[in-house]
Amino acid sequence: MKKIFDFNGNKEMKEMVINEKTTTESLIHLTPAALKELILKYYANETVTALKKKYRITRSKHTIVKAFPTVSFSNCRMCDKPIWSRLLVRERKNIISFEEELWCHACKHQENSSICQCENETCTKERIFQKEEIRRLQEEEERRKQERDKKREEERRKLKEVQQKIRDEMEQRGLGREGMEIDDQKVKIEHNEITIEIINDFTIGGGGKLKNENELSLNERLILGAFIRGTQLEGTTDLQIPLMNKYLITPTLDFFDQMLDYLIKNQLISPSRSTALTECSINQYDEVSFNKMMIRYRVNVIPSHSYKNMVQNLIFPKSEDFLKDREFCQEIWCKIAVGEVMADLDLSLEKKNIVYSPRKVHQQVFEYLINYFSINQIYNITNNAGNRLSTKLIEGTIHPSDAADSMIMHIENYGLKAIREKWDVKPFYRQTRESILTKMIFNNVLTIGDAGYKEVARKYFQ
Ligand SMILES: [Zn+2]
Ligand SMILES: [Zn+2]
Repeated sequence: MKKIFDFNGNKEMKEMVINEKTTTESLIHLTPAALKELILKYYANETVTALKKKYRITRSKHTIVKAFPTVSFSNCRMCDKPIWSRLLVRERKNIISFEEELWCHACKHQENSSICQCENETCTKERIFQKEEIRRLQEEEERRKQERDKKREEERRKLKEVQQKIRDEMEQRGLGREGMEIDDQKVKIEHNEITIEIINDFTIGGGGKLKNENELSLNERLILGAFIRGTQLEGTTDLQIPLMNKYLITPTLDFFDQMLDYLIKNQLISPSRSTALTECSINQYDEVSFNKMMIRYRVNVIPSHSYKNMVQNLIFPKSEDFLKDREFCQEIWCKIAVGEVMADLDLSLEKKNIVYSPRKVHQQVFEYLINYFSINQIYNITNNAGNRLSTKLIEGTIHPSDAADSMIMHIENYGLKAIREKWDVKPFYRQTRESILTKMIFNNVLTIGDAGYKEVARKYFQ
């Protein structure tokens, strides 16, 4: 194996040991110290002519490097004898390259224990230990796998059994899907069993520890509050994502997706027991899965006083709790602002009949610009880019599939130029479909109302 050694001009270089026995005829007149010096000078890029002259090398038939003796940079871990390596032609200044020997010629030891067959006692012991360790790990893994499989098989069987029971029960009574949630106590209980399993499945991994209301972070409180506000079902404690108008909760669907994943991952919500069975299924890996947009949720947080009180605190957050953390306020403002300008871009493209799926690189452009401009100013930049795009589309100088990228490129170029040349970008006002989260952030948390659109977040909090 070819390796290198960076000696960085260090003429002492104690690490390198010369194997005198392998010194070739042409260098035989040199002492080990001189040999070492010669080698180091060679790798320090001195010319061969100069070296030959200085070290009186006359009879070399080969390239000089072939005349060098073998050298060692390390000793065998077992017998402590040097492991000799052949030096290779120089490539870069002050870097020694050599062919590393992979086994010890003295005791036959090699570091790769899976192939070493040396007879050193330590190595033999190590090898036995390693083999046992590997076997132990494999057995352990196998045992775990069997346990997992057994558990899954059992869960699957139970789930199927209960599902079948419910189907039979419903058939007997001539009930439809909706019927099962009404006055049939038995079906209800069995339905519960299934959903408990689903919930268990759902909360596995996070340790399943419920948070207390007063343990929630600012971000958790805000996100959970907006989610409850947008999804609570009249007269129940259940939460259901409205089929239409999902965007009303957050500026964009992408944002909503992140919000939902955040809530699920942090176990702030979990499936409600009244989730319809039709929304759950067993996938090919025998795991219970469900459509996260369709199932019903419940809040997974222990209230400090009452559930009602907690919900009220969450959906009407108190600004004094948040304003104490100015950094958080600034971050959340920037984040929602990016959401709003992304929504505006989406809307602008939609008006031109262009289907847009948000991309990370596009979001990054806005994440940068929002440090310098207000939402209203970016609306203006986007609006200009939109007008330009319309012209190009009419002229036929751009293909609709490139429209979004072209528009973003224009926004980015314009924005960067405006920052560089300190332009006073005029605001642009538009009737926005303001999301629940946006309203909560600007009105309840930051209590700045329209200034959320007019001001630059970074400047406001300086
Ligand atoms: Zn050895
Ligand atoms: Zn060995």
